[in-house]
Order: sequence, then C-alpha cells, then structure tokens
Amino acid sequence: MTANFEQTLNIISLDGAAATGKSSTAHAVAEALNYLHVDTGSHYRIICYHLNEKSIHPIESPELLAALNGFKVDTILKKNSVLFEIDQREVESDDLRSYTVNTQVSQFASLKPVRDFLLRYQRSLVNFARRNHFKGMIVEGRDIGSVVFPDATLKIFLEADESTRIARREKEGHTDVINERDTIDATRKLSPLTCPKDALSINTSRLSLDEVVSIILKELSQKDESK
Ligand code: C5P
Repeated sequence: MTANFEQTLNIISLDGAAATGKSSTAHAVAEALNYLHVDTGSHYRIICYHLNEKSIHPIESPELLAALNGFKVDTILKKNSVLFEIDQREVESDDLRSYTVNTQVSQFASLKPVRDFLLRYQRSLVNFARRNHFKGMIVEGRDIGSVVFPDATLKIFLEADESTRIARREKEGHTDVINERDTIDATRKLSPLTCPKDALSINTSRLSLDEVVSIILKELSQKDESK
C-alpha cells in the first residue's frame, strides 16, 4: 500500500487506450462533482513537444536528462482542469495533437527518466487540489490506477471497439496512430497500459456519455456509502 497522501481526497483513476472516451468522461465527471480534472496524456504530449523542439531523440541520453532537469514546471488552473506548463509556455492544442507528437509520444513515454519526472509531478497534484479546495480529483491516463494512484478511491477502465475508436478520432479531425500507440503503451516494460484488477471496466462503444457518467457517479456514491 502507498502513503497516506491520497486518503483525505477522493481520487478517481480513469485509464484506457486511445479514443475510448476518457477525456469527455473525465470532463463531465469533474464538472458534475466539482472535482479537479487532470489529463496526464497532455503531460506526456507537452514533454514530447518540448523535447522534439530541442531535437532530442526518444532514447535515454545525457541530453534528455539535462533537458528534463532544466524544465521549469508550472501548474495553472483553467476552470477546473490542470494546465501543465513548461518554461511558462502554453502549447496550442493542435500542436499537441500534431502528427509528429502522435507518432513520438509513446516512445518518449516508454523512457524511465520521463516517467519518473511525470510521476513526481502527477503525485504533487494532490497538494495542488487541496490548496485549491477541491474535494476530489479525476485523473485520466494509462497507469493511474496501477502506478500513479494505486490507492485511488475508485478505479475505472474504459474500453471501446476498434471501429468506434477510429470513428471518434476521424470525427475530431486528427491524424492519429492509435493502434501503434496502444501497442507501444500496452507492451512497454514500465507502467504499461493495463486494467487494474480492482477497476470497474466499462465498454463505451454503445453507451452515451451521460450513461457512462452516471455509472461512474453511482459507483462512487456506493463507495462513499460503504466508508
Ligand atoms: O491520453 P493521450 O492519448 O493524450 O496520451 C498520449 C500518450 O501519452 C499515450 O499514447 C501514452 O504513450 C502516454 N501516456 C502514458 N501514461 C499516461 C498517460 C499517457 O504513457 N498516464
């Protein structure tokens, strides 16, 4: 079991592969409960963007370590979502979802120095949530229930059929490589994408957003009642 730092704040972990509906679900649950929303995928994308700008390759190297050590990190609250900033620059959403970032992000996310850097940062957000008077947070990603917050109050794992996931990305108008990313994410040695054994798994293919949100809210209220 991990430290007590999680215990006075409700944490919902929301893991799943690309395009399974994590972001819309996390936003809607955060709004319904007035929780802090944390999108850890954006953290990996921002790191990837900055490293790429410095022409650093996705391999462990002295240059990679020096760049990570030199990053000045800030956390900004935008409505009820965390905005992670490096060197006081807000990166445009389109730049974070560019073809370059989509094809490189999982390679950077497989590297230990990158994961260690973000694990420290993501756990520090518990204090950020407390300072900003949130009574809980919903954190979306790949390893949230398994590694980042293994003692989360409620663990959710989203799944969706491949055709649904491809259609969702096409509708968003982004060129993504979801199968390649999923393969790297699920097979890497460190913190692979996995459904934690104590997570509730929801297949979102044939459910509306409202239906997914109400399953999560119901599950959370049952947890609260049994405390
Ligand atoms: O969630 P999103 O698709 O934006 O995540 C981009 C990439 O960041 C993922 O494909 C994965 O490689 C990495 N990631 C991760 N662990 C997380 C969140 C994202 O490795 N907790």
